[in-house]
Amino acid sequence: MSSTDESLKANAEFARDFELGSLPKQPAKKLAIIACMDARLTVEQILGLQTGDAHIIRNAGGIVSDDALRSLIISNHLLGTTEILIINHTDCGMLTFKDQDLRQKLKAETGVDATVPTDFHTFNDLAENVREQVRRVRTHPWIPKGISVRGLIYDVKTGQLNPVTEEKEEVVR
Ligand SMILES: [Zn+2]
Repeated sequence: MSSTDESLKANAEFARDFELGSLPKQPAKKLAIIACMDARLTVEQILGLQTGDAHIIRNAGGIVSDDALRSLIISNHLLGTTEILIINHTDCGMLTFKDQDLRQKLKAETGVDATVPTDFHTFNDLAENVREQVRRVRTHPWIPKGISVRGLIYDVKTGQLNPVTEEKEEVVR
């Protein structure tokens, strides 16, 4: 059985006893999280979150991309979230290649020069990457100044979340 078929079978099982149909769309904990898509990082589990508690926006690297900002702004302005967490993790795949290398590989394999996406957002320094993502959120004119934004690194070996930035850290523009 393919993983897709297995997943669909699991869903049939899940829906049989489903009891969460009346949750409101506003996250109960008023929390929005941007995290890497890494399969070892189960955001709900590591933060003790339940269905309905938080918005979880995920992509390769846990990057505050234009699209992540789009979701964050909707989350904050339309769905009432007031705290933001940005979570990267140790042993991230984004530390293991360069944008340029992937672009060359894609061109070699497909014969096509990439148009979109123009940037894969790879990075060399994990903590600095987290700080940069926090900066992008804090300096965005549509994200309210008073909002809490914290950057953290999840350790895939220990399960611990370690803070990289303070809640009220000054932003150097
Ligand atoms: Zn990652």
